[in-house]
Amino acid sequence: MPELPEIEVIRKTLSGHLAGLTVSGVTILEPFVLTAAAKQGLTQVIRERVLEVNRWGKCLIIHLSGGKSVLIHLRMTGRLLWSLEEPVTQPATHRHVLWYFSRGREKQGVLTYQDVRKFGRIDVIRKADLKRSEILRRFGPDVLALTKDEFISRLRGKKARIKAVLLDQQVMAGLGNIYADEILFDSGIHPKTEAAGLETGALARLFDSARRILNEAICQGGSTMRDYVHTDGVPGSFQHAHRVYRKTGHACARCESVIESGKIAGRTSSYCPHCQKELKAA
Ligand SMILES: [Zn+2]
Repeated sequence: MPELPEIEVIRKTLSGHLAGLTVSGVTILEPFVLTAAAKQGLTQVIRERVLEVNRWGKCLIIHLSGGKSVLIHLRMTGRLLWSLEEPVTQPATHRHVLWYFSRGREKQGVLTYQDVRKFGRIDVIRKADLKRSEILRRFGPDVLALTKDEFISRLRGKKARIKAVLLDQQVMAGLGNIYADEILFDSGIHPKTEAAGLETGALARLFDSARRILNEAICQGGSTMRDYVHTDGVPGSFQHAHRVYRKTGHACARCESVIESGKIAGRTSSYCPHCQKELKAA
């Protein structure tokens, strides 16, 4: 599942393609991933111009000149593909929505949403009501939009393991299993530590690690684990910089201890038992 860095890379690519173009047509092949508002609203944005492409956590937001925004949450297997002509190679059953874009009368390209497992979600809502979208209303603020003080105050005192808190999109949006594990390793915090047991210094370290890891991952095009590729079909390379994620049984790059793993909040967490000490809440 793509996390914040992968979605940010897609956002940059999409922004390069779409900014300033006009939606000249929309074809809905499979409405399953659309909210009720999107079933109505998607065809109503034809002839509107793309103002900008934003991101909130793992959700992409295309702002249009008529005051509405299209929200796209890729979830597990959703993908956006940009092509100059209508794509014919993929099986039509996995193509859900096609947006056609033009500049003046000149066709510029097609954006295809495909989703093998159909867990993704597309919504259309007025920009002024963005936070009321059924996608965003479950999200806290974007991790990279938080100041250090805001980050610390959102985690402080939480009675749950820090890994589970980082994965909770209502606390802050954008992190998933890969980056939560890598950020915890980078900050030397064991994933099983209760958030309430972390002092301000440790939370500040976690904030710095989150910034560093996420920004590095964005620079490297994200992590390509299974089928994540950019909108132009280019894979990322940050998977080569992973220190603990899927490294169970390997030697820690820092201390050569064996990387261990365990389940937290239903997800496998990988960590170095030497570099990441479990702190007990006082
Ligand atoms: Zn280690």
